Amino acid sequence: MKKIKIIILLSVFLGYSYAHSFADNREVNILVLLTYHQSFPWAESFIAGLNRSRERYDEKISFHIEIMETLNFKSSLSDAQWAAYISKKYKFTDFDAAIAESGRASLFLNKYSMLLASGIPRIYYTGTGVAGSSLNRVFSAQYNESVTKTVDMALKQNPNAENIYIIRGDERSNDRVIEIIKDLLKTRPDLIVHMIDNFTFEELTLSLEKIREKSIIFFTIILKDRNGQAVVSKEALAGLSVLSASPIYSFWSSLMGSGIVGGCMIDGAVTAERMVDAAMDYTNEGKFRDEYDTLRTFIDWNALKKYGIDEDSIPADAFLINKPVSILDFYFAEFMLVFAVFAFLLSILFLYWSRKLAGANKKLEDLNNEIMLAKEEAEELARIDPLSGLNNRLAFFEKWEQVCREIKRLGKPVSLLMLDIDHFKKINDTFGHIQGDRVIIRIAEIMNKCKREADISIRFGGEEFIVVAPFTDLRGAKNLAERIRLEAEKSIIQYGDIEIRFTVSIGVYSAVPSECDLNHGIKCADDALYKAKENGRNQVVLWEAA
Ligand code: GH3
Ligand code: MG
Ligand code: MG
Repeated sequence: MKKIKIIILLSVFLGYSYAHSFADNREVNILVLLTYHQSFPWAESFIAGLNRSRERYDEKISFHIEIMETLNFKSSLSDAQWAAYISKKYKFTDFDAAIAESGRASLFLNKYSMLLASGIPRIYYTGTGVAGSSLNRVFSAQYNESVTKTVDMALKQNPNAENIYIIRGDERSNDRVIEIIKDLLKTRPDLIVHMIDNFTFEELTLSLEKIREKSIIFFTIILKDRNGQAVVSKEALAGLSVLSASPIYSFWSSLMGSGIVGGCMIDGAVTAERMVDAAMDYTNEGKFRDEYDTLRTFIDWNALKKYGIDEDSIPADAFLINKPVSILDFYFAEFMLVFAVFAFLLSILFLYWSRKLAGANKKLEDLNNEIMLAKEEAEELARIDPLSGLNNRLAFFEKWEQVCREIKRLGKPVSLLMLDIDHFKKINDTFGHIQGDRVIIRIAEIMNKCKREADISIRFGGEEFIVVAPFTDLRGAKNLAERIRLEAEKSIIQYGDIEIRFTVSIGVYSAVPSECDLNHGIKCADDALYKAKENGRNQVVLWEAA
């Protein structure tokens, strides 16, 4: 239920903002009149410029394009018929502006402006005889600026040039261009200007082949050669630039890609964009801007390299063609994405492994601790007699060394009590081994009960025990032995109804630090014990030097 509510709210919100965006952005309708066929370089570029400008405005711009190519080829339709046709076709469309893309189209639009574009801004291109007004804006080919900037750039890029060759076509517009160049070069008497004109295509090819280095070639528009042979400028130029040992410059962007270096160029697309700007300026602000710059500098990277021209000479705002893009630059976003994914996976893997490693380390540490404990336990067990829980022989020998060092350091005596159960064989024989074991356990308890903290009790053999009493002299040792003997004598082991009683014999030996020898000590205590047995058992005998 909650989910459905959220979805409904979201849809209402999205619907509202969608509708709102339409309300805000009204549609702008622009009538565009073309007189060249749309596959002509200029018209093609112009249409590309229209499409490009659509993306630069928030408003939805609709271009209503009429390609009146028949105007150029004398169709069956007269101007008046064209005007009537367009007016009828767009009877129900309110245009916000009208654009005429060529001189011919401009004349047409101007002539029928009352019928086709009454009261709306009209933007003309090279409309000779069209008067500028608050509604009329006339764009003209910026020959002066484009030629000036192109020649400037060419001279800057070829500082060692001594000759300028001008390939002059038969177009009338070229006259102006030649005048501009000649004017420019007045300030450079060091340069020799050569005019190549009135040629057949073969002658042009030959003369271009003769041009050696230290030269710049400037190309104007060519539509046909001396024999009236039609020439497609760009195609002709492509053949010529392969032969040319000198860089070729021009000012028509449609010639880019033919192998020429470039220039500050008149460009159909840029022109269209500026004309749309003018239409939009008027629509939004009610007036045109003072100036619209329709030029753009183009440079062909391949040509630049071919003629060894310094890259630094390229203007900052130039549009480069054929510049190789490194694989890294081209796939930069993809590289970054792959890299990011890789880094992400790696960090997850790293996290996973470091956690796992930490776990493994902890386990290893625990295991190590367990092993250490087990080892300590095993070592302890190896030194304990399992039946009595007393120190065994191994522990006895180790501890004796420590005791010896201590008493030698402190100059105190040490005593050894050797204890043996009397007639133990008989106890075993009479009551069985298990009861014998109980006697051994009881003796251990008695020894531990009677001895002092520092004393060490040991099961030395089957039914033989030793007490080491450090810092204890013979008298003290005798007292200890007596206490043990008495305790044993009093002790009763209950076996069903039977009370098992037992006694022990003890031999006591005491040594001063200098006599601290284990074998000697054991032998002496054993001798005293032997005497106790001989004297009738259940007694303590002190060792005396013979
Ligand atoms: P004595 O008074 O001369 O010492 O006589 P005894 O019988 O005690 O001496 P003997 O050396 O003849 O016998 C010792 C017996 O102790 C032999 C053996 O079976 C017994 N024995 C040794 N170790 C153990 C043990 O761990 N448990 C039991 N139940 N008996 C043991
Ligand atoms: Mg014995
Ligand atoms: Mg015995």
